[in-house]
Amino acid sequence: MTEQPKAVTLSHQPVAGSQVYTWEPSNAAIAARYGLRPEDVLRFDTNTSPLPPPFVAQALTDPFEPTLNEYPDSAYEELTAAAAAYTGVDPSEIVVGAGADEILDLVAKAFLTAGATALVPIPTYPMYGVLTSQRAARIAAVPRLGADDGFALDVPAMTARLADAGVVWLCSPNNPTGRAEPVGNIEAILAGAAELPSPPLIVVDEAYFEYGGATVVPWRHRYPHLLAVRTVSKAFALAGIRVGYAVGSRSVIERLGRVRPPGSISTVSAHVSARALQSPEYALDNVRALSAEREWLSTQLNTFGWMVTPGITNFVLVRIGDHATAERATDALLHAGIVPRTFGPANPLRGHLRLTVRSRAENDR
Ligand code: PMP
Repeated sequence: MTEQPKAVTLSHQPVAGSQVYTWEPSNAAIAARYGLRPEDVLRFDTNTSPLPPPFVAQALTDPFEPTLNEYPDSAYEELTAAAAAYTGVDPSEIVVGAGADEILDLVAKAFLTAGATALVPIPTYPMYGVLTSQRAARIAAVPRLGADDGFALDVPAMTARLADAGVVWLCSPNNPTGRAEPVGNIEAILAGAAELPSPPLIVVDEAYFEYGGATVVPWRHRYPHLLAVRTVSKAFALAGIRVGYAVGSRSVIERLGRVRPPGSISTVSAHVSARALQSPEYALDNVRALSAEREWLSTQLNTFGWMVTPGITNFVLVRIGDHATAERATDALLHAGIVPRTFGPANPLRGHLRLTVRSRAENDR
């Protein structure tokens, strides 16, 4: 989802009382708004990878074609086994979904009821707030520490609110700040929750896991109220396939399974993403290449006076100045066909833009 460009956002009707939200406009809509050709629009706002994996064409010719008249295997055994092997867990500790976004939606459906509270550290991925408000649950926004502290979680402020919470939405590395949570912060929150008679579900969104390598997966036995959420959209370069998965204790996975639709992942997507998870070398090469490219892009942006905050992901958070300066920069970029991720006037990052690291030619433009 996005807050820009305002003129071409597509509004969806939210449930009564929930946040108003919009999805990213299409290339065609942006082109029409700014007098460009759709092929001249470059997405620096979606945190995807520049190229799909080389094995996709071959995976698409694998012999699942004769089964396309049937529904997918609702247990998604091949995909679940591939995710289990990739993460080193048992298949019973995995749930799969149509993107990490569907996993987050399952969490909201299974763990949030009307009037419940979810803790949302700000700034973070906006879907946590959207999904919370769709369930008519309350958002307890807990500001993160500032830029000088790497936008880390305010652990005492978080732990003080755990007793009221049904869900705690954490993200590491965090989107949009691009940093992994400092060692110990997530475990301090897990330990605080474990002392409660009825602990909240602690969600750790690891969509950008491959960019740092730190994971909470090994803690799932010690903390049964933990869920790690992953995707093939980022390091695996398969955002169009729409597959995500989550790892947690059997009790949490079973509860999510009860609200999971039987066929939201297509047979094609399940097979291609299983193939990707079975051969993760491509993802690791992609991470290495984009990390080097991030450093090049950061140096170039700094040369032009845009202050890149240090980060480890396939996007950079750039401080431009105040909100009006960031809006002017956005307008100029959009007129050139470059779509940045922007932040609204109420967001603590209102003077920033978030830019995806793309190919060298695209970054150069
Ligand atoms: N979590 C975070 C932190 C993300 O940045 C994104 C993608 N923008 C998602 C989840 C959604 O990923 P998916 O494409 O798997 O739905």
